[in-house]
Amino acid sequence: MIVPAGKPANLAKRKPDDKLGMASKAEGRKALDALRPKLADLQARLAAQAERGLLLVLQAMDAGGKDGVVRSVFTGVNPQGVRVTGFKVPAGREAQQDYLWRVHQACPSRGEIAIFNRSHYEDVLVVRVHDLVPEERWRKRYRHIREFERLLDDEGTEVVKVMLHISADEQRARFQERVDDPAKRWKFRAGDLEDRKRWDDFQAAYDEALSETSTAWAPWYVVPADRNWVRDVAVARILVHHLERIDPRYPEADPAIVGTKVV
Ligand code: ADP
Repeated sequence: MIVPAGKPANLAKRKPDDKLGMASKAEGRKALDALRPKLADLQARLAAQAERGLLLVLQAMDAGGKDGVVRSVFTGVNPQGVRVTGFKVPAGREAQQDYLWRVHQACPSRGEIAIFNRSHYEDVLVVRVHDLVPEERWRKRYRHIREFERLLDDEGTEVVKVMLHISADEQRARFQERVDDPAKRWKFRAGDLEDRKRWDDFQAAYDEALSETSTAWAPWYVVPADRNWVRDVAVARILVHHLERIDPRYPEADPAIVGTKVV
C-alpha cells in the first residue's frame, strides 16, 4: 500500500476493490477487533510519555470514506488523546495567510494523535483542478510540503498519510445512496457532481501529489477503499505500525512512590 519514496504512485494500477488477502467481511471485522485494543494501548502510552505526536492525514475523492475511518478505526481509543480537524475552503484569516498556516496550528501536541480530514494537500489538488492559483505557484508547494513534513518529523511528529482509494463506480453508488437516504442527504453538495465530472483530472492531481510527496519521513499509503471493512483494517494496521515505530513507553515511576502503601 505504501508509495515508495521517489517512486511514482501509479494510482491507475492500484485496485480500489482489493481485499488485501482477506476472505470475507467477517474476517475483516475480526481483524479490526483484534487491532483495536492494540491501538488503544499504544495511544495510552503515547499520551503518557508525551514525547512524540502522530499526525494522520486523510485524503480521498468525495465519498471516499474519511468520516467512516475516523468513526470506525478510532472507536475504543481515548477521545482525550485524539484531535480531528476538517479543512474546508479557507476563510477569513486562513485565506490571508500562506496555505500551511492553518495546518501547522492543527498539528499534534506531544503525546497527541491529530487526524486531518482533508489537509494541506487540498492546496495541490482542488486548487490545481479548479485552477485557483497559477501552476507556477502550486507546483512549488510539493517542495514546501516535503520540507514542512520533514520539520514536523525532526521536531517530534510522526507523519502518516493515507489516500482512501475508491473507484468511480463506487463513488457513483455512494452518491446515489446519499441522494436517496434522508439521513445522508445533508452530506451531498451540488458541487460534488461537478467534481465527479473532473474525476480524471483529480486522479492525475492525486497521482502527481503522492509521487512528489511520499518521503522516508512522511510516507503515503494508498488504501483500497471500495469496501469499508478492508479500508478500516488497512488504516488500523498502518497506525499500529507507525505507533510501534515510535515505541511509546510509560514514564518511569518516581522511586519514592514505588512500593508505597496508600492509607
Ligand atoms: P467533506 O467533503 O470533507 O466532508 P465539505 O463538504 O465541507 O467536507 O467539503 C470541504 C470542501 O472544502 C471540499 O470541497 C474541499 O475541496 C474544499 N477545500 C478544502 N481545502 C481547500 C483549499 N485549501 N482550497 C480550496 N478548497 C478547499
